[in-house]
Amino acid sequence: MNLKVLNTGQSTVGWHRHGTMLLCPQKYAYSYAMGEKRREPKSAPFLGTLVHQGLAHLYLHMGLLQRGKHGGGGYERWSKAVARHATESDEGKLFTPPQQEELASHALKILRAYVNQYADADMQQLEILKVEHEIKVQIDGELYTQRADLIVRSRRDKKVYIWDHKTAGGFGLSYGAQQYTLSGQILGLDYLGTELYGADFGGVLLNMISTKRNDFERVFAGAAPDSRKRWLDTLRYARERIKALSDRDPLDYPRTLDPTVCYAYGGCDYFDQCRWGGES
Ligand code: SF4
Repeated sequence: MNLKVLNTGQSTVGWHRHGTMLLCPQKYAYSYAMGEKRREPKSAPFLGTLVHQGLAHLYLHMGLLQRGKHGGGGYERWSKAVARHATESDEGKLFTPPQQEELASHALKILRAYVNQYADADMQQLEILKVEHEIKVQIDGELYTQRADLIVRSRRDKKVYIWDHKTAGGFGLSYGAQQYTLSGQILGLDYLGTELYGADFGGVLLNMISTKRNDFERVFAGAAPDSRKRWLDTLRYARERIKALSDRDPLDYPRTLDPTVCYAYGGCDYFDQCRWGGES
């Protein structure tokens, strides 16, 4: 039987859409508003994607074991498939693109260190509730979705936590985590967790993974009350912008033209099309 690779990608109508509209309407047009002509972005950074996928399979496996389902050996099978540089699963998702074998080995090294450090303790201290779960709620009568990497109940305080796995380079992990406390994605998870679990909800935890040093840190991303309220206001504003522009030709959406947005992290996926104009 082929291994089914878990989907760790974007949710249906989540923060990534609204955040992109706020960042750059033209980028939103290329990403979401062009229908059939929609631009496919460059693939996500391979190392981070692979680590993320490995963690999904690890915790799914752990949850199955906790429920007495010993046949759920997905993590072992997934890592063996990556180790032999398998290129696709039954869903046709790429494990190891050509020339990326070294990164695949590096991802497995990081995951081995992670398993050594956390697997036994997590098995004891956490009840695995959901893995890669798309949360769906209605906000102002409209569907809103976000994918939670992991939802657990702590056996210590009995609270439910949403975990978000973040891979980071060489900076100190706590320093890297600080930027996420005002991230729309993390505040969105906080909002959804509060809606779904009420007083049982403990908050969002950032599971920080250094891909340079192979070390890890778990940082609580406590949302300030004002930030929670502002998140909802900001979501409404983004929705208004999306509706207001929906009659326009997507190629005529406004552009940010700000180099910190257009050329951050190696450049916007649509930089060349945007530079030369049209659908070229
Ligand atoms: S290159 Fe800049 S202006 Fe063009 S879509 Fe990307 S972020 Fe927007």
